[in-house]
Order: sequence, then structure tokens, then C-alpha cells
Amino acid sequence: MVQKAEKIWFDGKLVPWDEANVHVLTHTLHYGCGVFEGIRSYKLASGESAVFRLREHIVRHFNSAKIMEMKIPFTVDEIYDAVLETLKVNKLEEGYIRPLSFIGEGVMGVHPGNNPIQTIIATWPWGAYLGEDALEKGIRVKTSTFTRHHVNVMMTKAKTVGNYVNSILAKREAVADGYDEALMLDTAGYVSEATGENIFIVRGGKIKTTPLTSVLDGLTRNSLITLAKDLGYEIIEQRFTRDELYTSDEAFFCGTAAEVTPIREVDRREIGEGKAGPVAKHLQKEYFKVVKGENPKYDSWLDKYSV
Ligand code: PMP
Repeated sequence: MVQKAEKIWFDGKLVPWDEANVHVLTHTLHYGCGVFEGIRSYKLASGESAVFRLREHIVRHFNSAKIMEMKIPFTVDEIYDAVLETLKVNKLEEGYIRPLSFIGEGVMGVHPGNNPIQTIIATWPWGAYLGEDALEKGIRVKTSTFTRHHVNVMMTKAKTVGNYVNSILAKREAVADGYDEALMLDTAGYVSEATGENIFIVRGGKIKTTPLTSVLDGLTRNSLITLAKDLGYEIIEQRFTRDELYTSDEAFFCGTAAEVTPIREVDRREIGEGKAGPVAKHLQKEYFKVVKGENPKYDSWLDKYSV
């Protein structure tokens, strides 16, 4: 269960958690055209807190809305300020932030006409998304029977509500089959992404990740590419197959929620030595240093606040 906070930001007002409700004829509830973000904030060693790459997340939110032809009646700056205001009012030193823009009530046909575009920002405490053990020991993954979206069927660069029906199908299947997470292939059969994470593999010390063609432009992926390059690793953005994954030395998922999660098994095949690999652990350690303000080089990625 989500731990309730005091307030949710709703179209410019902070309303009590239990009163942040919508009508059952809310357009997005019927047809899935809404856009959302997933953002984390961390408590820093200094005692302050910081949202990780808040502005970039809000810009991606507005880009998602643009792709879906939803005009959010607020500016990037207003939503940026609203996130910090919501964290402060909820006294959340560390946790998860969920902006969601959706099409409200009005006409009920598929064409949403002039129905209002509404926005909420909710915050709640959220620990390791796939569990502490996952971060430490790595997870078991199953290639899904469900294919990730074709680029002309859903808009894969938008974090659209409806895109996640595909993620739910894949996740349910993987969990029911005893795995922690699903890996999805693209429509050409190459590795794409997981239900809420991008993927990296390591072979001979070189790191490879899928190009952005049909996957979400993950900010964790983007941060890890910068971090790894700065640490002297070679990074290749190139599509790869599931058998290249099976025979890689290491693999890991990354995302705001999942952070850097090593993969120890895919489709019953051990990856490397069947445990979290050294490159994954190294990048995970460096990533946590960055988000917790322990590496001043990346201070510009931290949007600081105090509760
Ligand atoms: N792919 C998908 C499908 C996702 O839902 C996410 C999580 N937003 C990611 C990748 C990773 O993106 P980010 O690192 O920005 O959280």
C-alpha cells in the first residue's frame, strides 16, 4: 500500500490526500491518454534533500504531453516549483514523485475535444523498487511473450499511461512464472527495455545499451552513460539480440524506481557468474554517490530543498 502523504497538488492547489478525486467519466480513465513521470528525491549527507534531475523530468513530461497533443495549462517552471512545494508540505525528505497529466471530463468519444487537461503531483516514500536484495544480488529475468510497442503503434518517447498496459501484461506474466522482471523485445526481435527500465550489457569491459529508437529516453540511462564515460568505460549504443545478452559477462537494468539493478539470470541462463557483476556494482555505487550528493562533479543534477 502507498503510504499516504498529507497533500496532493491538484491543478494549482494543495488538497488533502483523500480529497484528490476525479469523476468516473474522466476521459483518461476510459482510453488511457494521459502522461506521467516518475522522479526520486534523496536525503543528502549534508542534511538537505535533493530531487534528482527534476528539471529534465519535467521537460520530458511536457514533451510527452506535446507528443500526445495535450496542452498542459502550466509552465515547466510552475510544475517544477509545484513539485518542490509538494515535497515540502508533505515533509518528505526522501521518496518518489509522481506528476500525472490527464484528460478530464467532457465529451466521451475517443476524440477528447476541449476536455480539460488536468495535472496532479503526488509524493510518497518508496524504497528499492525491486527490493534491497535485487540491488545487492541481482534479479532473475524472463523474456516476455509480449513485444514492446512498435514506434508507429504507440509513441515510445512519451511516458503515456496507455503504454503501460503492455508493461503490466509482461510483468504479470514474468512474476507468475517465478521471475522478478520481464525483458521485452522490439518488433524486429531485438532487445528493447523492461517494463519500467532500460537495459545495459557488459562484454570484455565494454558497456552496451540499446539505441533510443523504440525505448523511453531514460534519465537514469542518460546519467549512467555520462558517469561511465567519465569513469573511463567505453559505451556503445547499438541494438543487440537476446543471445548476445545470454552470453554477456554482465547485465543490468536502470530506471528512476529500479535505480541500478544487476541481472543474474535470463531465461534460466546465468549471466556471467550468476551474480551481480563488478561493472554493475561499480556503476551502482557511483550512481548512489551522485544522487546522495557525495560527488560534487554532478551537483548540477541535484535540485535541492529542505523540509
Ligand atoms: N523504460 C520505461 C518503459 C520506463 O517506464 C522507465 C521508467 N521511467 C525507464 C525506461 C527508465 O526511465 P528513467 O530512468 O527516466 O526513470
